[in-house]
Amino acid sequence: MPGYELIDNKEFKQISDVFKKSKTLFRMGFDKQRKGIFKVNEFEKKFAKKVNSKYALAVTSGTAALRVALSTINLKKGDEVITQSFTFVATVEAIVESRATPVCTEIDKTLNMDPKDLIKKINNKTKAVIVVHMLGVPCRIKEIKKICKKYNLVLIEDTAWGCGGKINNQYLGTIGDIGAYSFDFAKTITTGEGGMLVFKSKKKFELAKAWHDHGHENNPKVPRWEDTRKSSGFNFRMTEMQGAVGLAQLNKLDYIVKKQNFNYKAIWSVIKKIKGIEKRAYPQNSKISADALIFFLKNKQTAKRCREELLKYKISTKILPEAFTWHFSREWKHIKELKKEKVSSSNHLKISKSLIERAVSIPIFIKMKKNFPKNVKYSILKSFERK
Ligand SMILES: *Cc1c(COP(=O)(O)O)cnc(C)c1O
Repeated sequence: MPGYELIDNKEFKQISDVFKKSKTLFRMGFDKQRKGIFKVNEFEKKFAKKVNSKYALAVTSGTAALRVALSTINLKKGDEVITQSFTFVATVEAIVESRATPVCTEIDKTLNMDPKDLIKKINNKTKAVIVVHMLGVPCRIKEIKKICKKYNLVLIEDTAWGCGGKINNQYLGTIGDIGAYSFDFAKTITTGEGGMLVFKSKKKFELAKAWHDHGHENNPKVPRWEDTRKSSGFNFRMTEMQGAVGLAQLNKLDYIVKKQNFNYKAIWSVIKKIKGIEKRAYPQNSKISADALIFFLKNKQTAKRCREELLKYKISTKILPEAFTWHFSREWKHIKELKKEKVSSSNHLKISKSLIERAVSIPIFIKMKKNFPKNVKYSILKSFERK
Protein backbone atom coordinates (compact mmCIF):
# COMPACT_ATOMS: atom_id res chain seq x y z
CA MET A 1 0.00 0.00 0.00
CA PRO A 2 2.00 2.77 1.01
CA GLY A 3 5.05 4.89 1.01
CA TYR A 4 3.69 6.30 4.25
CA GLU A 5 4.95 3.22 6.06
CA LEU A 6 8.48 4.13 5.10
CA ILE A 7 8.88 7.77 6.07
CA ASP A 8 12.29 8.08 7.73
CA ASN A 9 15.51 10.04 7.78
CA LYS A 10 15.82 9.98 3.99
CA GLU A 11 12.82 12.28 3.60
CA PHE A 12 14.04 14.40 6.50
CA LYS A 13 17.46 14.81 4.92
CA GLN A 14 15.89 15.99 1.64
CA ILE A 15 13.62 18.44 3.46
CA SER A 16 16.50 19.79 5.53
CA ASP A 17 18.33 20.66 2.28
CA VAL A 18 15.41 22.97 1.57
CA PHE A 19 15.27 24.52 5.03
CA LYS A 20 18.98 24.67 5.79
CA LYS A 21 20.55 25.23 2.38
CA SER A 22 18.28 26.66 -0.31
CA LYS A 23 15.74 28.31 1.99
CA THR A 24 13.54 28.52 -1.10
CA LEU A 25 10.09 26.94 -1.01
CA PHE A 26 9.13 27.97 -4.57
CA ARG A 27 10.14 25.76 -7.48
CA MET A 28 11.30 28.61 -9.74
CA GLY A 29 13.59 31.62 -9.60
CA PHE A 30 15.46 32.97 -6.54
CA ASP A 31 18.64 31.80 -8.23
CA LYS A 32 21.05 33.60 -5.91
CA GLN A 33 19.41 32.40 -2.72
CA ARG A 34 18.81 28.75 -3.58
CA LYS A 35 22.40 27.62 -4.14
CA GLY A 36 21.52 25.52 -7.15
CA ILE A 37 18.92 23.45 -5.27
CA PHE A 38 15.84 22.75 -7.38
CA LYS A 39 14.02 19.83 -5.73
CA VAL A 40 10.93 19.82 -7.96
CA ASN A 41 13.05 19.98 -11.14
CA GLU A 42 15.19 17.17 -9.88
CA PHE A 43 12.15 15.10 -8.91
CA GLU A 44 10.66 15.54 -12.41
CA LYS A 45 13.92 14.55 -14.10
CA LYS A 46 14.44 11.49 -11.94
CA PHE A 47 10.81 10.40 -12.24
CA ALA A 48 10.93 10.69 -16.05
CA LYS A 49 14.12 8.67 -16.12
CA LYS A 50 12.69 6.02 -13.82
CA VAL A 51 9.64 5.34 -15.99
CA ASN A 52 11.51 5.89 -19.30
CA SER A 53 9.57 8.95 -20.34
CA LYS A 54 10.97 12.10 -21.92
CA TYR A 55 8.80 14.68 -20.23
CA ALA A 56 7.50 14.88 -16.67
CA LEU A 57 5.62 17.66 -14.90
CA ALA A 58 5.04 17.71 -11.14
CA VAL A 59 1.73 19.10 -9.85
CA THR A 60 -0.10 19.53 -6.56
CA SER A 61 -2.20 16.33 -6.58
CA GLY A 62 -3.36 13.40 -8.66
CA THR A 63 -6.66 15.17 -9.26
CA ALA A 64 -4.73 18.21 -10.51
CA ALA A 65 -2.65 15.92 -12.75
CA LEU A 66 -5.84 14.70 -14.47
CA ARG A 67 -7.16 18.25 -14.84
CA VAL A 68 -3.87 19.49 -16.27
CA ALA A 69 -3.75 16.50 -18.67
CA LEU A 70 -7.19 17.47 -19.98
CA SER A 71 -6.06 21.10 -20.43
CA THR A 72 -3.93 19.91 -23.36
CA ILE A 73 -7.04 18.90 -25.31
CA ASN A 74 -9.24 21.61 -26.67
CA LEU A 75 -12.42 20.55 -24.88
CA LYS A 76 -15.66 22.39 -25.49
CA LYS A 77 -18.92 22.08 -23.60
CA GLY A 78 -20.71 18.99 -24.86
CA ASP A 79 -17.53 17.08 -25.70
CA GLU A 80 -17.36 13.69 -24.04
CA VAL A 81 -14.52 12.02 -22.16
CA ILE A 82 -14.89 8.33 -21.42
CA THR A 83 -13.59 6.68 -18.26
CA GLN A 84 -14.53 3.55 -16.32
CA SER A 85 -17.30 3.05 -13.78
CA PHE A 86 -14.92 1.80 -11.07
CA THR A 87 -12.47 4.57 -10.18
CA PHE A 88 -12.05 7.23 -7.54
CA VAL A 89 -14.50 10.13 -7.94
CA ALA A 90 -11.54 12.44 -8.82
CA THR A 91 -11.32 11.05 -12.37
CA VAL A 92 -14.86 12.15 -13.12
CA GLU A 93 -14.45 15.44 -11.24
CA ALA A 94 -11.46 16.33 -13.43
CA ILE A 95 -13.58 15.76 -16.56
CA VAL A 96 -16.39 17.92 -15.17
CA GLU A 97 -13.89 20.68 -14.29
CA SER A 98 -12.69 20.58 -17.90
CA ARG A 99 -16.23 21.41 -19.14
CA ALA A 100 -16.63 18.00 -20.78
CA THR A 101 -19.29 15.37 -20.12
CA PRO A 102 -18.03 12.28 -18.29
CA VAL A 103 -19.16 8.91 -19.65
CA CYS A 104 -18.42 5.69 -17.76
CA THR A 105 -17.93 2.25 -19.26
CA GLU A 106 -18.51 -1.11 -17.71
CA ILE A 107 -15.54 -2.91 -16.18
CA ASP A 108 -14.60 -6.56 -16.68
CA LYS A 109 -12.98 -9.05 -14.32
CA THR A 110 -9.76 -7.00 -14.29
CA LEU A 111 -11.98 -4.43 -12.50
CA ASN A 112 -10.83 -1.98 -15.17
CA MET A 113 -12.31 -0.66 -18.41
CA ASP A 114 -14.00 -3.23 -20.64
CA PRO A 115 -12.70 -2.48 -24.18
CA LYS A 116 -15.88 -3.85 -25.77
CA ASP A 117 -18.04 -1.43 -23.83
CA LEU A 118 -15.65 1.41 -24.69
CA ILE A 119 -16.35 0.88 -28.40
CA LYS A 120 -20.10 1.05 -27.71
CA LYS A 121 -19.76 4.37 -25.88
CA ILE A 122 -17.68 6.20 -28.50
CA ASN A 123 -19.56 8.73 -30.63
CA ASN A 124 -18.68 11.87 -32.59
CA LYS A 125 -18.51 13.96 -29.41
CA THR A 126 -15.90 11.72 -27.80
CA LYS A 127 -12.50 13.41 -27.49
CA ALA A 128 -10.50 11.40 -24.98
CA VAL A 129 -10.38 8.25 -22.88
CA ILE A 130 -9.09 8.06 -19.30
CA VAL A 131 -8.30 4.49 -18.32
CA VAL A 132 -7.56 3.65 -14.71
CA HIS A 133 -5.17 0.98 -13.44
CA MET A 134 -7.35 0.49 -10.39
CA LEU A 135 -5.69 -0.70 -7.20
CA GLY A 136 -2.44 -1.70 -8.84
CA VAL A 137 -3.59 -3.91 -11.74
CA PRO A 138 -3.10 -2.76 -15.36
CA CYS A 139 -6.16 -2.23 -17.52
CA ARG A 140 -6.41 -3.88 -20.96
CA ILE A 141 -4.40 -1.05 -22.41
CA LYS A 142 -3.20 -2.85 -25.52
CA GLU A 143 -6.73 -3.27 -26.87
CA ILE A 144 -7.78 0.16 -25.64
CA LYS A 145 -4.83 1.89 -27.28
CA LYS A 146 -5.79 0.34 -30.63
CA ILE A 147 -9.35 1.59 -30.24
CA CYS A 148 -8.16 5.10 -29.36
CA LYS A 149 -5.90 5.15 -32.39
CA LYS A 150 -8.71 4.04 -34.69
CA TYR A 151 -11.09 6.74 -33.45
CA ASN A 152 -8.37 9.39 -33.00
CA LEU A 153 -8.88 9.81 -29.25
CA VAL A 154 -6.31 11.03 -26.73
CA LEU A 155 -5.50 8.26 -24.25
CA ILE A 156 -4.80 9.30 -20.66
CA GLU A 157 -3.76 6.78 -18.00
CA ASP A 158 -4.94 7.48 -14.48
CA THR A 159 -1.99 5.77 -12.83
CA ALA A 160 -2.79 7.08 -9.34
CA TRP A 161 -2.77 3.47 -8.14
CA GLY A 162 -0.39 1.94 -10.62
CA CYS A 163 2.93 3.68 -9.98
CA GLY A 164 5.73 1.17 -10.49
CA GLY A 165 3.49 -1.38 -12.26
CA LYS A 166 4.24 -2.50 -15.80
CA ILE A 167 2.70 -4.20 -18.78
CA ASN A 168 4.84 -5.79 -21.51
CA ASN A 169 7.78 -4.41 -19.58
CA GLN A 170 6.62 -0.82 -20.05
CA TYR A 171 5.81 1.32 -17.01
CA LEU A 172 2.14 2.10 -16.52
CA GLY A 173 1.51 5.74 -17.36
CA THR A 174 3.89 5.71 -20.33
CA ILE A 175 1.82 3.67 -22.78
CA GLY A 176 -0.93 6.14 -23.65
CA ASP A 177 -0.41 9.79 -24.61
CA ILE A 178 -0.33 11.10 -21.03
CA GLY A 179 0.13 9.38 -17.67
CA ALA A 180 -1.15 10.92 -14.41
CA TYR A 181 0.13 9.80 -11.00
CA SER A 182 -0.92 10.65 -7.44
CA PHE A 183 1.33 10.97 -4.42
CA ASP A 184 -1.39 11.45 -1.84
CA PHE A 185 -0.84 9.85 1.53
CA ALA A 186 -2.39 6.48 0.65
CA LYS A 187 -0.59 5.92 -2.65
CA THR A 188 2.45 3.78 -3.54
CA ILE A 189 4.83 6.68 -3.01
CA THR A 190 3.74 9.85 -1.28
CA THR A 191 4.57 13.53 -0.92
CA GLY A 192 1.65 14.17 1.45
CA GLU A 193 -0.26 15.67 -1.46
CA GLY A 194 1.15 15.72 -4.97
CA GLY A 195 1.03 14.36 -8.47
CA MET A 196 3.05 13.86 -11.64
CA LEU A 197 2.34 13.82 -15.35
CA VAL A 198 4.36 12.15 -18.09
CA PHE A 199 3.93 12.90 -21.78
CA LYS A 200 4.80 11.34 -25.13
CA SER A 201 4.59 14.62 -27.02
CA LYS A 202 6.73 17.65 -26.33
CA LYS A 203 3.90 19.91 -27.49
CA LYS A 204 1.43 18.51 -24.96
CA PHE A 205 4.09 18.75 -22.24
CA GLU A 206 4.68 22.41 -23.01
CA LEU A 207 0.96 23.20 -23.11
CA ALA A 208 0.48 21.48 -19.74
CA LYS A 209 3.53 23.13 -18.20
CA ALA A 210 2.24 26.57 -19.12
CA TRP A 211 -1.38 25.83 -18.14
CA HIS A 212 -0.44 24.55 -14.65
CA ASP A 213 1.34 27.89 -14.09
CA HIS A 214 -1.22 30.53 -15.24
CA GLY A 215 -0.02 30.20 -18.82
CA HIS A 216 3.59 31.17 -18.04
CA GLU A 217 5.89 30.18 -20.88
CA ASN A 218 9.03 30.74 -18.77
CA ASN A 219 10.52 32.69 -21.63
CA PRO A 220 14.27 32.86 -20.92
CA LYS A 221 14.54 36.24 -22.63
CA VAL A 222 12.47 38.10 -20.04
CA PRO A 223 12.13 38.11 -16.25
CA ARG A 224 9.20 36.06 -14.92
CA TRP A 225 7.04 39.10 -14.16
CA GLU A 226 7.25 40.10 -17.82
CA ASP A 227 6.77 36.53 -19.04
CA THR A 228 5.00 35.77 -22.31
CA ARG A 229 1.83 33.64 -22.51
CA LYS A 230 -0.47 32.17 -25.13
CA SER A 231 -3.09 30.48 -22.98
CA SER A 232 -4.81 31.08 -19.71
CA GLY A 233 -4.31 28.51 -17.00
CA PHE A 234 -4.41 27.91 -13.29
CA ASN A 235 -2.01 27.27 -10.43
CA PHE A 236 -1.13 23.65 -9.78
CA ARG A 237 2.59 24.15 -9.03
CA MET A 238 4.34 21.71 -6.73
CA THR A 239 6.32 23.16 -3.80
CA GLU A 240 9.96 22.43 -3.01
CA MET A 241 8.91 20.61 0.19
CA GLN A 242 6.85 18.14 -1.82
CA GLY A 243 9.61 17.77 -4.40
CA ALA A 244 12.14 17.01 -1.67
CA VAL A 245 9.98 14.30 -0.10
CA GLY A 246 9.26 12.91 -3.56
CA LEU A 247 12.97 12.43 -4.26
CA ALA A 248 13.39 10.30 -1.15
CA GLN A 249 10.22 8.31 -1.86
CA LEU A 250 11.11 7.70 -5.50
CA ASN A 251 14.30 5.97 -4.35
CA LYS A 252 12.08 3.57 -2.39
CA LEU A 253 9.71 2.73 -5.26
CA ASP A 254 11.47 -0.46 -6.40
CA TYR A 255 11.67 -1.76 -2.85
CA ILE A 256 7.99 -0.97 -2.22
CA VAL A 257 6.78 -2.74 -5.36
CA LYS A 258 9.02 -5.74 -4.71
CA LYS A 259 7.99 -6.07 -1.10
CA GLN A 260 4.30 -5.63 -1.92
CA ASN A 261 4.51 -8.37 -4.55
CA PHE A 262 6.26 -10.61 -2.02
CA ASN A 263 3.58 -10.05 0.62
CA TYR A 264 0.83 -10.40 -1.95
CA LYS A 265 2.16 -13.82 -2.93
CA ALA A 266 2.47 -14.83 0.70
CA ILE A 267 -1.24 -14.15 1.21
CA TRP A 268 -2.37 -15.67 -2.06
CA SER A 269 -0.44 -18.89 -1.51
CA VAL A 270 -2.35 -19.40 1.74
CA ILE A 271 -5.84 -18.63 0.41
CA LYS A 272 -5.76 -19.78 -3.20
CA LYS A 273 -7.03 -23.27 -2.49
CA ILE A 274 -10.15 -22.06 -0.71
CA LYS A 275 -13.18 -23.18 -2.69
CA GLY A 276 -15.48 -20.35 -3.64
CA ILE A 277 -12.99 -17.57 -4.23
CA GLU A 278 -12.03 -16.32 -7.63
CA LYS A 279 -9.02 -14.06 -8.19
CA ARG A 280 -9.26 -10.79 -10.06
CA ALA A 281 -8.14 -11.20 -13.69
CA TYR A 282 -4.94 -9.61 -15.07
CA PRO A 283 -4.16 -8.76 -18.66
CA GLN A 284 -1.29 -10.78 -20.17
CA ASN A 285 2.24 -9.71 -19.24
CA SER A 286 1.13 -7.60 -16.30
CA LYS A 287 3.52 -6.70 -13.55
CA ILE A 288 1.27 -5.51 -10.77
CA SER A 289 2.26 -2.98 -8.13
CA ALA A 290 0.39 -5.28 -5.72
CA ASP A 291 -1.34 -2.51 -3.89
CA ALA A 292 -4.21 -4.78 -2.89
CA LEU A 293 -5.26 -8.39 -3.36
CA ILE A 294 -8.77 -8.65 -4.71
CA PHE A 295 -10.95 -11.70 -5.08
CA PHE A 296 -14.58 -12.31 -5.91
CA LEU A 297 -17.00 -14.21 -3.71
CA LYS A 298 -20.40 -15.62 -4.56
CA ASN A 299 -22.50 -12.55 -3.91
CA LYS A 300 -22.92 -9.30 -2.03
CA GLN A 301 -23.87 -11.00 1.25
CA THR A 302 -20.84 -13.29 1.24
CA ALA A 303 -18.55 -10.34 0.59
CA LYS A 304 -20.12 -8.37 3.43
CA ARG A 305 -19.80 -11.30 5.82
CA CYS A 306 -16.18 -11.79 4.82
CA ARG A 307 -15.39 -8.18 5.70
CA GLU A 308 -17.08 -8.58 9.08
CA GLU A 309 -14.97 -11.62 9.89
CA LEU A 310 -11.78 -9.89 8.70
CA LEU A 311 -12.53 -6.95 10.99
CA LYS A 312 -12.62 -9.33 13.95
CA TYR A 313 -8.93 -9.93 13.25
CA LYS A 314 -8.44 -6.17 12.87
CA ILE A 315 -7.95 -6.59 9.14
CA SER A 316 -9.66 -3.83 7.26
CA THR A 317 -10.57 -4.18 3.60
CA LYS A 318 -9.48 -1.57 1.07
CA ILE A 319 -12.45 0.08 -0.69
CA LEU A 320 -14.23 -3.19 -1.51
CA PRO A 321 -16.79 -3.98 -0.40
CA GLU A 322 -17.25 -1.14 2.08
CA ALA A 323 -16.32 2.08 0.26
CA PHE A 324 -17.58 1.60 -3.25
CA THR A 325 -19.87 4.62 -2.96
CA TRP A 326 -16.75 6.78 -3.46
CA HIS A 327 -15.45 4.54 -6.24
CA PHE A 328 -18.42 3.48 -8.36
CA SER A 329 -19.94 6.02 -10.73
CA ARG A 330 -23.43 4.52 -10.55
CA GLU A 331 -23.57 5.92 -7.00
CA TRP A 332 -22.76 9.50 -8.00
CA LYS A 333 -26.18 11.05 -8.25
CA HIS A 334 -24.63 14.27 -6.91
CA ILE A 335 -22.66 14.75 -10.15
CA LYS A 336 -25.31 16.09 -12.47
CA GLU A 337 -22.94 16.28 -15.46
CA LEU A 338 -22.45 12.51 -15.49
CA LYS A 339 -24.08 11.12 -18.61
CA LYS A 340 -26.55 8.46 -17.67
CA GLU A 341 -27.34 5.73 -20.13
CA LYS A 342 -30.71 5.86 -21.75
CA VAL A 343 -31.73 2.55 -20.23
CA SER A 344 -33.78 1.87 -17.16
CA SER A 345 -31.68 2.59 -14.11
CA SER A 346 -31.52 -1.01 -12.91
CA ASN A 347 -29.66 -1.88 -16.11
CA HIS A 348 -27.23 1.00 -15.86
CA LEU A 349 -23.70 -0.40 -15.29
CA LYS A 350 -25.24 -3.68 -14.28
CA ILE A 351 -22.13 -5.76 -14.99
CA SER A 352 -19.87 -3.44 -13.00
CA LYS A 353 -22.29 -3.53 -10.10
CA SER A 354 -22.41 -7.30 -10.01
CA LEU A 355 -18.60 -7.49 -9.96
CA ILE A 356 -17.97 -4.70 -7.47
CA GLU A 357 -20.48 -5.80 -4.88
CA ARG A 358 -19.05 -9.29 -4.56
CA ALA A 359 -15.38 -8.28 -4.52
CA VAL A 360 -13.21 -8.20 -1.40
CA SER A 361 -10.00 -6.20 -1.38
CA ILE A 362 -7.22 -7.00 1.06
CA PRO A 363 -4.73 -4.16 1.57
CA ILE A 364 -1.09 -5.09 1.17
CA PHE A 365 1.22 -3.62 3.77
CA ILE A 366 4.97 -3.38 3.43
CA LYS A 367 5.39 -4.13 7.10
CA MET A 368 2.92 -7.00 7.05
CA LYS A 369 2.58 -8.95 10.29
CA LYS A 370 3.62 -12.57 10.08
CA ASN A 371 0.23 -14.05 10.93
CA PHE A 372 -1.63 -11.75 8.52
CA PRO A 373 -2.02 -14.32 5.68
CA LYS A 374 -3.28 -16.96 8.08
CA ASN A 375 -5.76 -14.58 9.64
CA VAL A 376 -7.07 -13.67 6.20
CA LYS A 377 -7.59 -17.35 5.51
CA TYR A 378 -9.37 -18.02 8.82
CA SER A 379 -11.65 -15.04 8.29
CA ILE A 380 -12.68 -16.17 4.84
CA LEU A 381 -13.35 -19.72 6.04
CA LYS A 382 -15.27 -18.43 9.07
CA SER A 383 -17.43 -16.21 6.90
CA PHE A 384 -18.29 -19.22 4.72
CA GLU A 385 -19.60 -21.05 7.78
CA ARG A 386 -22.07 -18.31 8.54
CA LYS A 387 -25.58 -18.28 7.17
C1 LIG B 1 -6.06 8.93 -5.51
C2 LIG B 1 -6.69 8.93 -6.85
C3 LIG B 1 -6.84 10.10 -7.60
C4 LIG B 1 -6.61 11.45 -7.03
O1 LIG B 1 -5.37 11.70 -6.50
P1 LIG B 1 -5.17 12.81 -5.35
O2 LIG B 1 -3.69 12.95 -5.31
O3 LIG B 1 -5.74 12.25 -4.09
O4 LIG B 1 -5.85 14.04 -5.80
C5 LIG B 1 -7.33 9.99 -8.88
N1 LIG B 1 -7.67 8.81 -9.42
C6 LIG B 1 -7.55 7.66 -8.73
C7 LIG B 1 -7.92 6.37 -9.39
C8 LIG B 1 -7.07 7.69 -7.41
O5 LIG B 1 -7.01 6.55 -6.73
